[in-house]
Amino acid sequence: MATWTIRLSGAADSALDLLFPPRCAGCDAPGQPFCDRCAQLVAPLPAQICAVCGRPHATAVALCSQCRHGRSHLRLSRAAALHAHPLREAIHALKYETRPELAGPLARYLVAVFQAPPWDALPAPIDAVVPVPLHIQRREERGYNQSELLAAGLCRATGLALEPAWLERIQATRQQVGLSAAERRQNVAGAFTAHSAVTGRCLLLVDDVYTTGATLEACAQAATAAGARAVYALTLAIPAHGAHP
Ligand SMILES: [Zn+2]
Ligand SMILES: [Zn+2]
Repeated sequence: MATWTIRLSGAADSALDLLFPPRCAGCDAPGQPFCDRCAQLVAPLPAQICAVCGRPHATAVALCSQCRHGRSHLRLSRAAALHAHPLREAIHALKYETRPELAGPLARYLVAVFQAPPWDALPAPIDAVVPVPLHIQRREERGYNQSELLAAGLCRATGLALEPAWLERIQATRQQVGLSAAERRQNVAGAFTAHSAVTGRCLLLVDDVYTTGATLEACAQAATAAGARAVYALTLAIPAHGAHP
């Protein structure tokens, strides 16, 4: 299996870590928020993926049926890895167990894939990285937006500009978990608005998990309506099966 070219976190790096060693979100071992062993177990994407939306395929075709027939506001979308153990547990802890310290170790996968095709030869270069926003109410409950922390890690490593205020979630939508693809699209339609600063710019949206793509599509639609030139998306994880039509 391919190994990741990521910088492993190594030993505990602060006095606080030595006093209260963090536990690995993947395997519960003490010492690091996401241990070096789990870091290498993160499953890369299979070779067969849709050239546009990046969803894993069962067969060798260039485009999935949805991208062959539908029109998307996203020019290109890719995930860094499969939504599987131990990454799945780490993303869950980042989102629901108040463990923002996981964002740094997890952002390394975004950085790793961003340095390879198709990102190294885009038709239009990226002007800014825009995280998928949370509604203000949910952000206050959680204390942070996990997608913004991941995007910040990507920007630190690549030098790209982070623009978290260019998209805003204006509707407090239901959680997408448990909804069908059609319900997800309906749930997030019109939920986002884009700042006029996106006009003429090429944006890279960043989110934690690509499930059906409904949230990213709604964001891309809002950005396009506000005049964005091109919208790409990069997510940390995508399921191996299930979301594909
Ligand atoms: Zn571990
Ligand atoms: Zn597709």
